[in-house]
Amino acid sequence: DLVPLRRALLSVSDKTGLIDLGQALAARGVELLSTGGSAKALRDAGLEVRDVADVTGFPEMMDGRVKTLHPVVHGGLLARRDLEAHRDAMVEHNIGPIDLLVVNLYPFEETVAKGADFDTCIENIDIGGPAMIRSAAKNHAFVTVVTDVEDYAALLGELDANEGQTTLPLRQRFAQTAYGRTAAYDTAVSSWMAGAIGADTPRRRSFSGTFKQTMRYGENSHQSAAFYTDGTGRPGVATAVQHQGKELSYNNINDTDAAFELVAEFDPAEGPAVAIIKHANPCGVARGATLLEAYQNAFDCDRTSAFGGIVALNQPLDEATAKAIVEIFTEVVIAPGASDAAKAVFANKKNLRLLTTDGLPDVKAPITTYRQVAGGMLVQDKDTGYIGMDDLKVVTKVAPTEDQMADLLFAWKVAKHVKSNAIVYVKDKATVGVGAGQMSRLDSALIAAKKAERMAEAMGFSEPLTKGSAVASDAFFPFADGLMEAAAAGATCVIQPGGSMRDDEVIAAADEAGIAMVFTGMRHFRH
Ligand code: 5GP
Repeated sequence: DLVPLRRALLSVSDKTGLIDLGQALAARGVELLSTGGSAKALRDAGLEVRDVADVTGFPEMMDGRVKTLHPVVHGGLLARRDLEAHRDAMVEHNIGPIDLLVVNLYPFEETVAKGADFDTCIENIDIGGPAMIRSAAKNHAFVTVVTDVEDYAALLGELDANEGQTTLPLRQRFAQTAYGRTAAYDTAVSSWMAGAIGADTPRRRSFSGTFKQTMRYGENSHQSAAFYTDGTGRPGVATAVQHQGKELSYNNINDTDAAFELVAEFDPAEGPAVAIIKHANPCGVARGATLLEAYQNAFDCDRTSAFGGIVALNQPLDEATAKAIVEIFTEVVIAPGASDAAKAVFANKKNLRLLTTDGLPDVKAPITTYRQVAGGMLVQDKDTGYIGMDDLKVVTKVAPTEDQMADLLFAWKVAKHVKSNAIVYVKDKATVGVGAGQMSRLDSALIAAKKAERMAEAMGFSEPLTKGSAVASDAFFPFADGLMEAAAAGATCVIQPGGSMRDDEVIAAADEAGIAMVFTGMRHFRH
């Protein structure tokens, strides 16, 4: 199973480690073949290199679109060394075997992430690279293929341990990595194209990601887990920079994502907003004149649940807010940036992780989501549904005032991010009660109101903040009871999709209670 390396083809866009690798191979007597830029880099470092163009007898042409796409290259990679007919073909057509292929591809994902135009992205689709990788990986019985700079050290270690030869297990592992890379690459191209040409149908989508890290465990300690990036470079938890604290857990990442996606619904141009999340549900979301005020308002919704929570901000973290956050135990804070003073406040909190990004997640981005089911996979467009003032239909005798309207739309945005059945009470652009994940809408309404009562008791308020609040329901009230419960809790206006068979009963109950109600015509189930 040991295969000696005599001839290598190096063709890399990311030249990291290339010279060291070239030197190490040359020192072992390996002949080096290479393409334009890679050959130049190796030659500049004083290494002897043969141009692929020299081997193929064809110049690199068409702006590099055709460099290595030639039978002399692919024959050298694909020929079975154990078959006489293949060996004869090599001799007949003057094809030399290529024992090692080192390729990393045109930086397509990075080009897209930089926001390059359509033509630039197209030019950054590597053709010859993936073709060679697939040839070499198929023939891994004889050929070693390296597609990850991180694997150079493993390759050289193996050559050291085996007198310049590679073992089958290493070649198998590298081949498996190689197919993962070409699959992810084409997925990135396909996903980008879907967006670029506006073909956002969940049909005909492929999916895969780039491995980022192994997690200590999954949702529970007996589950193994890993984290992947999708290569888009979009701002979000997968691309955030961690400044301090221990490694994020699976649940941390899931909850941090929920927190950041929710707070990103609140345009920073309209002022600060803060979301506090527990178990992927918000236990407080608020705007404020300052970030600190927004945090305090969010915290006041449910101080009990906020303990050990995840805090997401729609603006860079400042010192005052950082000081307020460290007053209780918080697992993670994520924000589009943080001041040095704020970082200093966190510095000695070992268990608090601070994550920053270059911006907020794009809540309107056409993203596809996946959920595994037994024997299959559900694929859908992400819920990017948006309801503005003009989309609302007043269905009751009284219409909401301007302030009520603002709170209704605030509650609606939050409800979109609460597990169904979701009931969200809001007052002065702060949640004052959240009912999540119940199997009946009535129970969600009751729980939210109950939590508000408990907060009022704890904080010494004369009445729960649900008095005079706006309430959102993520889907229609199937009966009037849920709405009546909200009215009993003191809600004075309601936002809900409408569309129930019993809308008339629900509207009549609202009118009876003197409540203003608007229909959105859109629901936000989140299961
Ligand atoms: P270099 O910097 O050496 O000129 O180019 C290296 C890059 O070219 C690598 O990313 C490699 O995957 C890519 N490449 C190699 N052969 C071909 C080819 O025939 N066509 C295209 N489009 N890219 C190639």
